[in-house]
Amino acid sequence: MAKKPSTFESINPATGEVVGVFPICSKSDVDAAVSLAHDAAQRWSDLGFRGRYLALRDWASLLTREIDSAAGLIHRETGKPLSDATLEVAMAIEHISWAAKFAPRILSRQNRPSGLLMFNLSAQVQRVPYGVVGVIGPWNYPIFTPIGSIAYSLAAGNTVVFKPSEYTPAIGAWLGETWKRVAPFEGIFSVVTGTPETGVALTTSNVDKISFTGSTRTAKKVAAACAERMVPVVLECGGKDPVLIDKDADIERAAEMTLWHAMSNAGQSCIGAERVYVHRDVADSFERAIVAEAKKLTVGFGEGAHYGPATMPSQIKVIKSHIDDAVKRGGTFIYGDKNAIKDGYVQPVILKNVPEDSTAVTEETFGPTLVINTVAHMDEAIDRANATSYGLGAAVWSKKNGKKIAAHLHCGMVSINSAFSFAAIGSVPFGGVKDSGYGRIHGAEGLLEFTYPRTVVRTKFRIPLEFTTFKRTKRADSILLLLTRLRHKKRRR
Ligand code: NAD
Repeated sequence: MAKKPSTFESINPATGEVVGVFPICSKSDVDAAVSLAHDAAQRWSDLGFRGRYLALRDWASLLTREIDSAAGLIHRETGKPLSDATLEVAMAIEHISWAAKFAPRILSRQNRPSGLLMFNLSAQVQRVPYGVVGVIGPWNYPIFTPIGSIAYSLAAGNTVVFKPSEYTPAIGAWLGETWKRVAPFEGIFSVVTGTPETGVALTTSNVDKISFTGSTRTAKKVAAACAERMVPVVLECGGKDPVLIDKDADIERAAEMTLWHAMSNAGQSCIGAERVYVHRDVADSFERAIVAEAKKLTVGFGEGAHYGPATMPSQIKVIKSHIDDAVKRGGTFIYGDKNAIKDGYVQPVILKNVPEDSTAVTEETFGPTLVINTVAHMDEAIDRANATSYGLGAAVWSKKNGKKIAAHLHCGMVSINSAFSFAAIGSVPFGGVKDSGYGRIHGAEGLLEFTYPRTVVRTKFRIPLEFTTFKRTKRADSILLLLTRLRHKKRRR
């Protein structure tokens, strides 16, 4: 039998250059990393908020000093423009800093009222780190996305073992190396590179929680593996984000931002715009404006390119099939055409009047394509926006009705008169509903996600009336009844 390879290459999707060669970590490598993380977990937790803050602050500072190296690696591994890669690293640094700074405020123990019946007790809720968190990452935002789990887990007092995507191991390994330079001791954060099998090894290892970001298809396998050991999971999966444009929207701005929302990073964004529902009164002007902007885009790997190649070549087949399906069912191109796909690149494609049951509307395309459909009123836009199996993000463009429309959308995040913006705000949670997953990274919710609540109740002083004992007296029963009636008996209206 042929021996399994022990290493794999990371390839620049634009040039074919080998960016690096990395180990395929086996089950025993992963188990060893998790075991080391367990050895370090108590010590890291015992460092307290201040000690962890100092280490994370040093890491954020080191990443800032070396932002060019990080951005260069991301640029080469994913093919995205250097400036996009720099923005990505800057956003990741913001999150490390936010998590470290706000962990004490969100996770410090809280005193709670103990109530009338138990007034002689003190009641407290403590937030306890799980222990070791396994983080599994995708390739599209290979530093920003996993940092949402890594930084928040570490700030909450867990140790972390991270498995980066097989398409972006170099930036994953680099992240691990930079941490080593600031880490107070070994085992707090380590990286295991490899194939999906390495990911399987992590989900079946002795971790205490898994935070997965990737496709819905893989998320279901991860959740099933974790269920075997009752390991809790965070699942950050795909999306089919809608953009809703009301007739009072600033059309020029909506067009410019929606184009970026749909096409930046070659459309490979979980929260990328894939569908537009525009009010019929402004549909023509919106289409004209977005096409005018699309004409200005340059696609390539060199300087000045607005976006690069498809990072994962197999996605091209999906993109092509969605375009073909849209056209077969009566959709028409308003920008781009059937020849948009060439040599690993996809030129911008904008389609209109695509039936709602086309795969171009129902499934995640993950390419620089956009479907624009016209609606008679915003209730129709809301119904259509909610009619997919996904529920990650959404954008609403309206001067007056933004909040009203947003309130009816079935999704985890909505931006009003902006695009993507919530991802860069440390204080708000990131995540979805339905096929887009569950659990949250970022914000207070992201810190709480990587701890569990432990209730601690303590007797402050003894009272003659005790309810939780076999020695409970008739008098205690009557007093209990009296108190309950006084507090809860319904008054007649
Ligand atoms: P993917 O599901 O193919 O892989 C994600 C990771 O899981 C990789 O590291 C892979 O090696 C690992 N993996 C594969 N099979 C596994 C298994 N059985 N058990 C454990 N790990 C396994 O996804 P991808 O192609 O890397 O990423 C693109 C997807 O990620 C898109 O659907 C995108 O929308 C989604 N995404 C979501 C978010 C979010 O925050 N919601 C962010 C970025 C990307």
